[in-house]
Amino acid sequence: MDIRDFSYQGSSAQIVFGRGALSRAAEVIAALGCQRVLVLSTPQQAEDAERLSSALGPLSVGVFAKAVMHTPVGTTEEALRVMRSSGADCTLAFGGGSTVGLGKAIAYRLDTPQIAIPTTYAGSEATPILGQTQGGEKTTLRDNAVLPEAVIYDPELSQDLPYAMTLTSGLNAMAHAAEALYAKDRNPMSTLMAVEGLRAFVTALPVLKQTPRDMAARAGALYGAWLCGTVLGQVGMSLHHKLCHVLGGSFDLPHAQTHAIVLPHAIRFNEVAAGAELAPLAAMLGRASAGEGLYDFAKDLGSPLALRDIGLAETDLDRAAEIATRNAYWNPRQIDRDRIRALLDAAWRGERPRG
Ligand code: NAD
Repeated sequence: MDIRDFSYQGSSAQIVFGRGALSRAAEVIAALGCQRVLVLSTPQQAEDAERLSSALGPLSVGVFAKAVMHTPVGTTEEALRVMRSSGADCTLAFGGGSTVGLGKAIAYRLDTPQIAIPTTYAGSEATPILGQTQGGEKTTLRDNAVLPEAVIYDPELSQDLPYAMTLTSGLNAMAHAAEALYAKDRNPMSTLMAVEGLRAFVTALPVLKQTPRDMAARAGALYGAWLCGTVLGQVGMSLHHKLCHVLGGSFDLPHAQTHAIVLPHAIRFNEVAAGAELAPLAAMLGRASAGEGLYDFAKDLGSPLALRDIGLAETDLDRAAEIATRNAYWNPRQIDRDRIRALLDAAWRGERPRG
């Protein structure tokens, strides 16, 4: 066995996982020493958030249901005013990455404890990373102050997540684990978690295509989301996440679909340099190539395959390639503008990925 040198830092967050675990929210809040929680959600999930707030009784000061994608600073400032006027001493983010992002943005400014109850598979609840937008610019920071203190994973909450979102959100999570396999700062724990997280989704997603409310598959996918989010928080990401950051930040493409489309291409590209690291993923997909396996997996499950179908114009490809290669960053395979332009072109057309 040839073990590389590594350093490892586990997360301090409390994880509560289980069917019906939502009912343990009051206990988790109390264990953090908090007494007045502000429940956060998107407008679309306001009804569920209100129900949770009512169930919490006097522990809840109410619901702030204005979370949106990309955590605009203006929304955070509005939430901060509600935090102050209500005397809230912690937040509870009920929803996907957008809602969790708002909780992190509040914690970054007030240092209030956070509880996250994720209802998608994006994985933000397990990372010390916060992306925010102001004046049309997205910036990302990494700070342990934004890592939620407690996370409640309840598979029942995702049983009505529409299948299309289930699939793209699942592929978004798989992207964290796929890039963790070849991360420069990977460690034995991150690799174990990444392989297990990928396996959880490779098993669960085909079942959820047939039976979206299958509770065992929902639990498997949420377990995968925890693992994949955890490795996203632990090790550095490379080409795939860079491309998705550019496409989301500069061209306003939807987060999860962009990840779903780009992933097979980025992995096929990096496989040339990181074939051994990606071999477990290829094997679980039953293919010689992990990138091609991901493409077939996504296609069989009905995922969007082409960037042109989610709002990217062909005339944007040059600029996207230019922005994605402007600043140097670590990647297992050397990056140059022409190769990235070709990768994006194949992803734009929805073609099979090339090496
Ligand atoms: P999202 O949170 O924007 O949710 C998308 C929509 O689905 C929203 O309307 C939401 O209310 C709805 N929704 C969520 N759960 C649902 C459910 N169970 N049933 C029905 N509808 C539901 O989407 P997302 O993909 O979870 O998160 C994307 C955002 O998270 C992006 O802004 C991304 O940058 C961020 N993110 C951050 C990190 C990080 O580590 N900082 C990691 C991953 C994602």
